Amino acid sequence: MGESTVRIGLVLPDVMGTYGDGGNALVLRQRLRMRGIDAEIVEITLADPVPETLDLYTLGGAEDSAQRLATRHLQRFPGLQRAAAKGVPVLAICAAIQVLGNWYETSSGERVDGVGLFDVTTAPQQVRSIGEVATTPLLPGVTQPLTGFENHRGGTSLGADATGLGRVTRGVGNGVGDGLEGVVQGSVIGTYMHGPVLARNPELADHLLRQALGVTDLEPLDLPEVDRLRRERLRA
Ligand code: GLN
Repeated sequence: MGESTVRIGLVLPDVMGTYGDGGNALVLRQRLRMRGIDAEIVEITLADPVPETLDLYTLGGAEDSAQRLATRHLQRFPGLQRAAAKGVPVLAICAAIQVLGNWYETSSGERVDGVGLFDVTTAPQQVRSIGEVATTPLLPGVTQPLTGFENHRGGTSLGADATGLGRVTRGVGNGVGDGLEGVVQGSVIGTYMHGPVLARNPELADHLLRQALGVTDLEPLDLPEVDRLRRERLRA
């Protein structure tokens, strides 16, 4: 590994890996490599402390019980919180939004204290939200519609320090009636979108990469197969 290798943390894929969201780390690494930038994925499992020295972090979705194990681990080893406090980009998918929030309630009605990186709370809704979701992004520098697949029972309410990632044009999103999907707070971004979300939304991937590299511009990548996938999913 060289000095300049970008290190992408895939946080707790052993418990937060149910929905294939580890693909986000692969997309980030690949988009760097295609631009001639060295990159590697660092997997952090329940057997490891969470380092605070990585360049970017991603966390995937999970079932309630796995979510609880992840919450406990992140509280015990606060490397992610320290990195986020320094402005290091973090991408949190689905259950990870809930884990990084102030608290969440499981589907059996138990309230669990979260990590507190997002000023949000999550409680189960009457019905599970499953299906395609699309939004108009609210993130500067991201202009194209966001597309993903949602599968969650939790509904997430944003507090004063958090803003939405997108305005829902299709599907449910955060599910509390404010028309929003996802969360943005400082350098931490959360979304209910699986897909993996970065495979479907290259602009969001490059937003995270610009932050990680501390640059304002990145060489564009021409990937017609990604454009095709987006067209297909946004039409579906
Ligand atoms: N268990 C959580 C919920 O149903 C998260 C599910 C997920 O990560 N897909 O809300």
